[in-house]
Amino acid sequence: MLADVDTWVLDLDDTLYPPGNGLADQMKSHIRAYLSEYFGTDEAGARRIQAELIASHGTTLRGLMTTEGIEAADYLAFEHRIDYSVLRPDPLLVDAIAALPGRKFVFTNGSAYHAEQALPRLGLADHFDGVFDILAGELIPKPYPQSYQRFVERFAIDPSRAAFFDDLAVNLTVPEELGMATIHVGGEAAPGTAQYQVVAPRRWRVWQLAPFLHALRNPPG
Ligand SMILES: [Mg+2]
Repeated sequence: MLADVDTWVLDLDDTLYPPGNGLADQMKSHIRAYLSEYFGTDEAGARRIQAELIASHGTTLRGLMTTEGIEAADYLAFEHRIDYSVLRPDPLLVDAIAALPGRKFVFTNGSAYHAEQALPRLGLADHFDGVFDILAGELIPKPYPQSYQRFVERFAIDPSRAAFFDDLAVNLTVPEELGMATIHVGGEAAPGTAQYQVVAPRRWRVWQLAPFLHALRNPPG
């Protein structure tokens, strides 16, 4: 399983930690508070504006920069107010990441600051060779092709030897087109099914990241 892979690329939020610890909700409510304040509107108004920005520009940040000329650093500072203590290390995942052979990267639509806060709390600070954040991507997020292109160039990635992990299926389309193995992480598994599923020769559906990574080293059968 993935024996030819020597480059491991992992999304951060809801991939390197499971959803449900409230961190994503904290980020969402901070973004809406930012929008409420900036546009002088209530929570419902902020939701509406956010939906429009995402539909037209891919992310809230990109929309605000394009339509309002907002500085990225100003917007991203909202992350400084998140309570990261909800993140805890998963020893099984830390072991599994440590054991992966080759180079390992975090590819996040968040900021480097966000990764710097989250990774140590997950026990993963020393296990990655690089973090590619939204600023490294010149504010073009996944799933836009330019974002992946910059990542591949920056770290001299050979896509045919890389595996890309993300909790959002839409973020795996370009990696697959580039020739990477793709692993869609998370979501609710149907009862009684395996922890992972081979969807295509180099495409996987994985409900729990750590057991899957351990299975790579000890394939069943
Ligand atoms: Mg994610």
